[in-house]
Amino acid sequence: MKIHSNSSSLQKELLPFLKNCESIGFVPTMGALHRGHIALVEQASRENDCVVVSIFVNPTQFNNAEDLDKYPRTIDDDVKLLKNVPGNIIVFSPNASDLYNENVISKGYDFGEIENEMEGKHREGHFDGVGTVVNLLFRAIKPNKAYFGEKDFQQLQIIKKLVEIEKLPIKIIGCPIVREKSGLAMSSRNKRLSKVELEEATLIYKTLKKVANEFNSSSISELNRMVKNSFDSNKFLDLEYFEIADSETLKTVHKKQANKKYRGFIAAFIGGVRLIDNIALN
Ligand code: AMP
Repeated sequence: MKIHSNSSSLQKELLPFLKNCESIGFVPTMGALHRGHIALVEQASRENDCVVVSIFVNPTQFNNAEDLDKYPRTIDDDVKLLKNVPGNIIVFSPNASDLYNENVISKGYDFGEIENEMEGKHREGHFDGVGTVVNLLFRAIKPNKAYFGEKDFQQLQIIKKLVEIEKLPIKIIGCPIVREKSGLAMSSRNKRLSKVELEEATLIYKTLKKVANEFNSSSISELNRMVKNSFDSNKFLDLEYFEIADSETLKTVHKKQANKKYRGFIAAFIGGVRLIDNIALN
């Protein structure tokens, strides 16, 4: 398996695929790979002639220097995991100056209202950084299809908007959330949790499941109260936000309407680590 650290050597390897009109799948990641990432790579490999997996911890999407500093970096283990995926898997692990051309700053995207909800509201500049790096990666790789996890549901909507803004002919594919047996959504940040914290963090998914089960029989304010109470009574977890939002606009919902699709979203801190998760409600 080839590991490319700059765009020109990657593009050389991709040239025959482009010439033969063979399809290129793309899975962007920040590394510290787990089964959630691997599921994306497997799907991309089934649906394309080759798959580029990028591993790049993107500085412009972090609004917290400590989070960037402590983000796990495990490239050797990542490559070992990717070697087990059948198909033509190509790793692209660029350095920031190659990708950004010395100017490591965000482009200043306007993704509209969707960018001001939830993650956008709590992590200033985050989606501008995500959009900037994904656009640079799209332009370096020129994939036919790109795969993103519903774990970062708002990011998936932002990327759909990005290809519209940049007029890129890339099909964006959303993939289901992969969970631990305990229900905890797999995340690279889970590597920073102790055994006890991993157990306590299961409250996030348990609460989302409860919201989904009670969604038809409860009002939004009853559900908001239930979530607040269950986090208030846990001394390990700090709830940053819980929102029930329209699945398309991601706007907070105060009253349910017929024919609308809703999702529940949680961001919470445990032991200084920020975790997010979400669930379809109807
Ligand atoms: P990250 O490395 O955290 O930037 O994630 C890279 C891609 O993997 C994103 O599209 C994520 O949404 C996706 N991803 C991360 N965790 C999971 C998971 N547990 N299930 C499905 N997709 C995931």
